[in-house]
Amino acid sequence: MEKKPFVTKEQVEEIVKKYPTPFHIYDEKGIRENARKVKEAFAWNPGFREYFAVKATPNPFLINILREYGCGTDCSSKTELMLSKAIGCKGEEIMFSSNDTPPEEFVYANKLGAIINLDDFTHIDVIDKLIGIPETISCRFNPGGLFSIANSIMDNPGDAKYGFTKEQLIEGFKILKAKGAKNFGIHSFLASNTVTNDYYPSLAKILFELAVEIKNKTGCHIKFINLSGGVGIPYKPDGTPNDILAIGEGVHKVYDEVLVPNGMGDVAIYTEMGRFMMGPYGGLVTRVGNMKHTYKEYIGTDACAVNLMRPAMYGAYHHITVLGKENEPCDHKYDVTGSLCENNDKFAIDRMLPKIEIGDYLFIHDTGAHGFSMGYNYNGKLRSAELLLKENGEVQMIRRAETPEDYFRTFDCFDFYKEVTK
Ligand SMILES: *Cc1c(COP(=O)(O)O)cnc(C)c1O
Repeated sequence: MEKKPFVTKEQVEEIVKKYPTPFHIYDEKGIRENARKVKEAFAWNPGFREYFAVKATPNPFLINILREYGCGTDCSSKTELMLSKAIGCKGEEIMFSSNDTPPEEFVYANKLGAIINLDDFTHIDVIDKLIGIPETISCRFNPGGLFSIANSIMDNPGDAKYGFTKEQLIEGFKILKAKGAKNFGIHSFLASNTVTNDYYPSLAKILFELAVEIKNKTGCHIKFINLSGGVGIPYKPDGTPNDILAIGEGVHKVYDEVLVPNGMGDVAIYTEMGRFMMGPYGGLVTRVGNMKHTYKEYIGTDACAVNLMRPAMYGAYHHITVLGKENEPCDHKYDVTGSLCENNDKFAIDRMLPKIEIGDYLFIHDTGAHGFSMGYNYNGKLRSAELLLKENGEVQMIRRAETPEDYFRTFDCFDFYKEVTK
């Protein structure tokens, strides 16, 4: 599928008069259309809820859009829980899916009434001593080994730090029940960024069969099954996007095959998607400031890996459009770089693009999830602004860019900042 930016060069030239590059911009229309479809895809399940993975895009304005479609939040730290509280999420609208959890974060999650999803067997004892066993509790399952769909290996859960083994899960549910838990959830996350409509249905089959087994062995009431995240997006233009309606139907079919005949037709389906909810609806806009020719052709932009870490960290592909040159031939080979003192600070390597000039604006696609949020301050680089392109065409700043003052604020000797700016 051809990748088209949701802003034009003309729009960006207007925006930069007020908000200089680089910035992440989000497409309200796209976010809403997709959220509506997710809701529709699981409408067959009365208890369905998507808990948006806050870590993907922790911006209150964006999460509030999703909340209009019934989404809650999935948090894995105290700060993310605080953010959820700040925007008015409460009780079972919040999922706390954390690992290596500091005890005080269980206390805080419990105070908000969040559903706690335990990552480890030892945490049963930890929460029992700290807060008592909540009436509703969830545990994360890790089947070990390799996870494959249709003979292609998707991921390696046996090598992942998350979750209970099956024996621990069954034993854990027995203990939790004996200590007073009434409603149980099962959670699992087996593969990341899957671009196949079969991931959720395959995972659902594993979890639904496990739920039946657990119910039979422990007598626990399974209230929900949480398919977690992992539904991906095609970062490359030749990829086919997931069809969430087909995914929802695929889960429905397994539900009717496995849960319903076992008297479990009241189980709610939960999801914790991040990437699928936001990824395609964000872009990083950056201006070309330098061009360099040595052994290769380099395009230097005013963004860098602190604004978008995925290419540097995972070698991830992000499509790039040179705004205003959408119809020109891609007959130049470039490395598109940032200015960090790290040679992995490249948004693209050997990328075929139209002939670029200084002052061109690049639109780096699919930065709406795990983009801004993975930012950091290496080399004294500051986080960019986040902007929202509203449905009516207006642009709203939904997070200002960091300033040097923000950078200096965490030193005890904050007056130091006053000194340097004298
Ligand atoms: C990261 C994460 C998610 C979201 O994953 P996506 O790939 O963005 O959908 C959901 N749940 C948990 C526990 C996670 O760690």
